[in-house]
Amino acid sequence: MTTGKFPPFRAMTYSPGGLINSIITQVKVSSPINDLDAKIEKHDPRLTDTTALWDTGATHCCISKKLAIELNLIPSGRTDMSHAKGKESTNTYTLDIFLPNEIWVPGCEVMEIEGVAGNFGIIIGMDIITMGDLAITNVNGNTMFSFRVPSVSHIDFVKEIRLDAEKILSKTGRNEKCPCGSGKKFKDCHLKK
Ligand SMILES: [Zn+2]
Repeated sequence: MTTGKFPPFRAMTYSPGGLINSIITQVKVSSPINDLDAKIEKHDPRLTDTTALWDTGATHCCISKKLAIELNLIPSGRTDMSHAKGKESTNTYTLDIFLPNEIWVPGCEVMEIEGVAGNFGIIIGMDIITMGDLAITNVNGNTMFSFRVPSVSHIDFVKEIRLDAEKILSKTGRNEKCPCGSGKKFKDCHLKK
């Protein structure tokens, strides 16, 4: 983690323009590199470029069978995976995942999935998502996805409305018109409430 004067978290933002119906970002993956304390260069030959689907419906990270073969991964075990058609036994692997901006997730246990729809190498599930904070906003028809680790604070839109309302009310004089638009004086309307 970064120390000194920089904030003690790492973050990435993805905003391709327009509204998007799935979040797929570029990532790098590798079979476990056990000397992660050593500096990993961006173009380290041990890292393979792939794409990641961010999926809040997945409890765990997954890897496509195609990518597992390409990386020559050795299974770490087998597990039962539940999906729409029932349960299925599948390989598990240990994978180092390198998200943009040096968000590194070493030693991630991933499940192999076969024949998934869409074109991505891995699925990022709730096991990584819950390591930090994730925001999806769609201002002016442009989706922005942002993720930071570790978690810093909650984003609470209900609280935002309340704080905005409190700010407006605190600036209103007793005899001014109430900001709610009722036409009544503030003292006879929301000041009482
Ligand atoms: Zn009012």
